[in-house]
Amino acid sequence: MSNDTENKTPDTANSDGSVTPPLHRHFIRQIIDEDLASGKHTGVVTRFPPEPNGYLHIGHAKSICLNFGLALEYNGRCHLRMDDTNPTKEDVEYVDSIKEDIHWLGFDWGNHYHQASDYFEQMHDYAVQLINKGLAYVCHLTAEQTKDYRGTPTIPAKPSPWRDRPIEESLAEFAKMRAGEYDEGAATLRSKIDLASPNMHMRDPVIYRIRKVSHHNTGDKWCIYPMYDFAHPLEDALEHVTHSICTLEFEVHRPFYDWVIANVDVPAKPNQYEFARLNLTYTVMSKRKLLELVKEKHVSSWDDPRMPTICGFRRRGYTPSAIRKFCETVGVTKYNSLTDVALLEHAIRDDLNKTAARAMAVLNPVKVIIENYPEGQVEWIDAVNNPENPADGTRKVPFSRELLIERDDFMEDAPKKFFRLAPGKEVRLRWAYFITCTSVEKDANGAITAIRCTYDPATKGGDAPDGRKVKGTIHWVSAAHAVPTEIRLYDRLFTKEDLNDDSDGKDWREHLNPDSLKTVTGYLEPELAKLAPGTRVQFERIGYFVADSQDSKPGAPVFNRTVTLKDSWSKGAKKE
Ligand code: ATP
Ligand code: MG
Repeated sequence: MSNDTENKTPDTANSDGSVTPPLHRHFIRQIIDEDLASGKHTGVVTRFPPEPNGYLHIGHAKSICLNFGLALEYNGRCHLRMDDTNPTKEDVEYVDSIKEDIHWLGFDWGNHYHQASDYFEQMHDYAVQLINKGLAYVCHLTAEQTKDYRGTPTIPAKPSPWRDRPIEESLAEFAKMRAGEYDEGAATLRSKIDLASPNMHMRDPVIYRIRKVSHHNTGDKWCIYPMYDFAHPLEDALEHVTHSICTLEFEVHRPFYDWVIANVDVPAKPNQYEFARLNLTYTVMSKRKLLELVKEKHVSSWDDPRMPTICGFRRRGYTPSAIRKFCETVGVTKYNSLTDVALLEHAIRDDLNKTAARAMAVLNPVKVIIENYPEGQVEWIDAVNNPENPADGTRKVPFSRELLIERDDFMEDAPKKFFRLAPGKEVRLRWAYFITCTSVEKDANGAITAIRCTYDPATKGGDAPDGRKVKGTIHWVSAAHAVPTEIRLYDRLFTKEDLNDDSDGKDWREHLNPDSLKTVTGYLEPELAKLAPGTRVQFERIGYFVADSQDSKPGAPVFNRTVTLKDSWSKGAKKE
């Protein structure tokens, strides 16, 4: 069993073995440092409290990296707590996926897996405490009436007719609520605070409501459920959380959080701190919208590689270390902003550049015939797996008389600056030989069917003994050995930068990118066809790809494009 104060050894080293140091001494680090220095706390306890009503997305990753990351940094602990106070929308499918995704990101909660529903009995007792102190009452206003009574920020709320009922009466009524004697909506338990508060959340907010539905954990044991705002501070206190970190929209809820902690007899006094949630360009992040994308079949599933979910990114080939690095890079602030998704893509490229093996694949082929290369001959040429990491060694690539190259790497009427293959021009075939184009073959419509070349046997390995230089190096595969394979070219799911901005009056779905997935047949060098599902690789000069974890068969992988080699969306870059 792991000990109580530390999480299990986490796997947060980067893919290359290094550990990302803290980049910013952001305000939460400052608060923790002050709290430790002043003796307010002797250690750090944080928590990540997802509601199990959907899959985790990149916004959650930011919160996970922050909460679990701080626990590691300060040698404390971080709890995983399922916020399951709303029985209507929750599901165990989501609970399992949440655990898997946090582990994949490299974090662990040790023996601190908790559920809000574990505390229902204690929460009920705290509610009774409030009634006994005259700080809560059972109210029978309908939802509609409650709204009418609420007032506005400048007009105080009207008191509920039950606000000043005797304590004994509220106790008895609350017991009746628990016993199921009331229908949904017929009674609520409300705190008794301040009807004139400019903060609407302090105007006697509801703390218990009736829901006659089964809960995925507690079954039919309860028909009253605590409201999130009441439950959350209690869970934090019961777990001795020191720093309860949430997103900015909870700032206005903080006075109620503090009120709960101050007015019931809890074993610890946590504090809530708010930071700005992550918003990304070209990305929707609300769980409701993500669910709609799946249900309306705009994507194939929650783990469709175009989804901003952790499982989607995993299937797309993103690495946990790149996601962690990205989360540290964007920092933690109190101001809402929109982060450029290119920053995330950059982190992925940067990570894969160091770790992914290179290989050759041709996605839009045209045949090259080397006239002076003997028919039937095959040479197995040594190719370097990763120039960034010599320890990755070399592999053998077959070379023969007929090759495939990218159609784009040849131009019949090439401008001066075109350094790839053109009539009369010499280029290097990666790891192999120099070739010179002598002529082209065309079909009846004038489309090029083959490019005829000669090779220079003295240039084997890619250098001319006479010191002659070529300006271009292109990739290739041997036509007879190439393995045709399904390749999925994923691109951004939306074409609009800021999807939170609906001032154009359009539905967010209207901004779906019709070209977010193109499927092509690629021709792979033989070693590529042997890769196990989940293996990441760079197709030289094209991009980073991963063998799909679901659709690959032994010896017949299907590849997903993780990210292009260069940002094709940035200003000035050519859109593919
Ligand atoms: P959504 O609005 O996407 O449905 P949520 O806030 O309802 O998300 P929860 O399951 O309640 O989802 O979130 C768990 C934790 O993750 C919360 O502490 C929440 O503040 C945090 N979180 C959710 N979205 C983001 C985000 N975009 N950036 C940072 N933290 C986030
Ligand atoms: Mg929430």
